[in-house]
Amino acid sequence: MELKGKVALITGGARGIGKAIAEHLAAKGADLVIADISYDSAAETAKELASTGVRTLALKLDVSKSAEVSAAFESLMKEFGRLDILVNNAGITRDGLLLRMKEEDWDAVIGINLKGVFLCSKEAVKVMVKQKFGRIINIASVVAFMGNPGQANYSASKAGIVGLTKTTAKEYASRGITVNAVAPGFIATAMTDALAENVRQEMLKSIPAGTFGSVKDVAGAVAFFASPDSSYVTGQVIHVNGGMYM
Ligand code: NAP
Repeated sequence: MELKGKVALITGGARGIGKAIAEHLAAKGADLVIADISYDSAAETAKELASTGVRTLALKLDVSKSAEVSAAFESLMKEFGRLDILVNNAGITRDGLLLRMKEEDWDAVIGINLKGVFLCSKEAVKVMVKQKFGRIINIASVVAFMGNPGQANYSASKAGIVGLTKTTAKEYASRGITVNAVAPGFIATAMTDALAENVRQEMLKSIPAGTFGSVKDVAGAVAFFASPDSSYVTGQVIHVNGGMYM
């Protein structure tokens, strides 16, 4: 219960890795704001988590739209009066080789994955500076460090997150705010389940651990950055990838 009394906002928290992060933080006692592009999915997840005894709030939020981000922060401050932990998890892919990549696919990925982190972090820092306390945790990706054919937009957005993490960490370290990132490798999700067996086997060959990670592995790393154990850790990236990049 080390996060009892803390309020955490998770973007894209309705499903996948975001939902696992929400479950992990709830198990440690944090109250939760589940913000997702689909209000209905956010509400469903928030209801599920409320049954574990924490307070929850569901919000409709497209992280790439500044007006929606401002409105979401207004709602969460009205409900909880504080924000201790921001997990910038919302992210999308629009894959294609560079020569064929459409400008709109570049803009959509950068808009949600990178600009969304900027917009939410800016609002969070306003609150956290006043509190003299805050934890911002950004979800990057192994492809920020390795590149990946077909993901020029996605890998650029995730590499951008790493730079943004370090700069924000330096700017607000003296105000009690830490800013860190978690870079997952291949994580078992609906997406990896749907892959053809030969593609799965090819991907597994690149992972020394020999298995895909689980959403819980990512949530555990996020929980470390949210916890008092990491108070003196800022501007860092934890790689959760079974050894495929080190
Ligand atoms: P996911 O299953 O697709 O979940 C992402 C969630 O974000 C969904 O609920 C989605 O809603 C929501 N979302 C999409 N666009 C949004 C927006 N504009 N504003 C707010 N919410 C939005 O993805 P995931 O696999 O859990 O990935 C979570 C994060 O981990 C992402 O940043 C991803 O890049 C990163 N990551 C994942 C892996 C992996 O192997 N899965 C590896 C490395 C990094 P809808 O479903 O309604 O669209």
